[in-house]
Amino acid sequence: MNKKIEQALSKHFNIELESAYFYLSLASYFDHLNLPGFAKWMKLQQKEEMEHAMKFYSFLYDRDSRVELTGLSRPQNTWNSPLHAFEDALKHEKSITSAISEIVGVALEEKDHVTNNFLQWFLGEQVEEESTASLIVEQLRKIENSPHALFYLDHKLGQREK
Ligand code: MG
Repeated sequence: MNKKIEQALSKHFNIELESAYFYLSLASYFDHLNLPGFAKWMKLQQKEEMEHAMKFYSFLYDRDSRVELTGLSRPQNTWNSPLHAFEDALKHEKSITSAISEIVGVALEEKDHVTNNFLQWFLGEQVEEESTASLIVEQLRKIENSPHALFYLDHKLGQREK
């Protein structure tokens, strides 16, 4: 595999791990607020990000390349409100979409269609991630300061299964 692409994919592997760490931090924030549905949603998201990371890991080894673990930076640990937390999650997902798009650009430049094909799945996944986060942000905006509505949303989010 082209070195430039190997490095970009390995870097992104670490970004997905950080993403998992970020969602774990959000889960801990919601557990601290005693909102178990929100916390469960975040823990499932953390698991999904680990799966994303491992897809990059496997792809690199399938292509006779390797990953380099670079260490995780300290995530934000607290937010002003559930709305702020989800706004951050949405912002985060947008940054992941840009990061993947960048690597697609490199793959196309290098005419690496196999890597491009691998990355297309992630671009589709990002549309889902952004759309889901954005919907919850909108719901939290509508709720404003209603504890009733917040507990109802907590119940709904707690129904997420995977
Ligand atoms: Mg991801």
